[in-house]
Amino acid sequence: MRIFITGVTGMAGSHLAEYLLQGEGLEVYGTFRWRSRMDNLDKLKEDGRLNIIASDLEPTLPNRINSSKLNLMEADITDPFSMKRVVAMVRPDRIFHLAAQSYVPVSWIAPAETLHTNIVGTVNLLEAVRAAGIDPIIHIAGSSEEYGYVLPNELPVTESNPLRPLSPYGVSKVAQEMLAYQYFRSYGLKTIVSRGFNHEGPRRGEVFVTSSLAKQIAEIEKGLKDAVLYTGDLSSKRDWSDVRDFVKAYWLVVEKGTPGEVYNIGSGVAREVREMLDMLLGMTDASIEVKLDPARLRPSDAKVLICDATKFRKFTGWQPQIPFEKTLKDLLDYWRERV
Ligand code: NDP
Repeated sequence: MRIFITGVTGMAGSHLAEYLLQGEGLEVYGTFRWRSRMDNLDKLKEDGRLNIIASDLEPTLPNRINSSKLNLMEADITDPFSMKRVVAMVRPDRIFHLAAQSYVPVSWIAPAETLHTNIVGTVNLLEAVRAAGIDPIIHIAGSSEEYGYVLPNELPVTESNPLRPLSPYGVSKVAQEMLAYQYFRSYGLKTIVSRGFNHEGPRRGEVFVTSSLAKQIAEIEKGLKDAVLYTGDLSSKRDWSDVRDFVKAYWLVVEKGTPGEVYNIGSGVAREVREMLDMLLGMTDASIEVKLDPARLRPSDAKVLICDATKFRKFTGWQPQIPFEKTLKDLLDYWRERV
């Protein structure tokens, strides 16, 4: 079976590739760009499990694909030609569409780029599938940010909750999901959407709140910065899971999900950012002052997001296994090794 992952160099994509490569009989392919951060794939590289295919030179796949390796192909989802080329070459049976401009605050600074990458990028992928004449199951990574403004009596949110996105990123994910639905209805493409709540762990981009706080603590421990930790709003509540649990859920989406459907994925437990920070501070001996940085506040923010994943759990039995303390400890250790 051939698996194709867009955004394999990202946090979720790299963990998903490692998870899939533990299995037997899967050929795993993924996209990267010339400017991609490749360090998330360091573990696979060290193990000799990366194979770069020159997709601009070869019209078809080389005869001998090593199924124990991640096969990387250069492509940009905003470019219809590169998407058509790589999808036609791989002819995947399963697609995980993870590539995105994934950072909410950047979507206020660069809304057009966010909408273009996330929406047009999805069209390019779906059109590439149509052009190749293949019939894969396609997972589209939607987000809890699609719910945005949630009323207290709507918590925890189910899939039928109104979508009231509060950022261009949230809007882009709603549009992605609508495209998945439209291509399912219009052309019978087997798209399945997950609305993922926050997932974290090693390799989380340093701009995201968990990673930013963990990295600052690691820098303070090494004396690389003053013992002041800058934060944004600490009162928001988020439903956090571990990315290594999440990629298992993504696999269950394509194995057991129904095309045309949408599934919430999350733990069902919400914690304030302040609680998460206290947990991180409890993992260090450094004495640290916490200061609000107004530049880190958002124009509008989903105050509380809690997931009701009953629909997904019912037919998959998925439950997060990794305690949040371990997720944060592994993230802090990840930064301790890097700063
Ligand atoms: P990351 O930001 O870590 O990874 C994003 C990936 O997308 C990177 O590999 C990036 O590559 C790639 N990418 C961005 N733009 C393009 C482009 N134009 N062409 C090709 N590739 C591109 O995100 P995550 O791994 O955390 O998230 C994966 C998906 O899940 C995203 O769609 C995100 O929106 C969604 N999601 C994530 C949640 C979370 O809590 N992590 C929650 C809900 C949804 P490059 O290095 O080249 O930029």
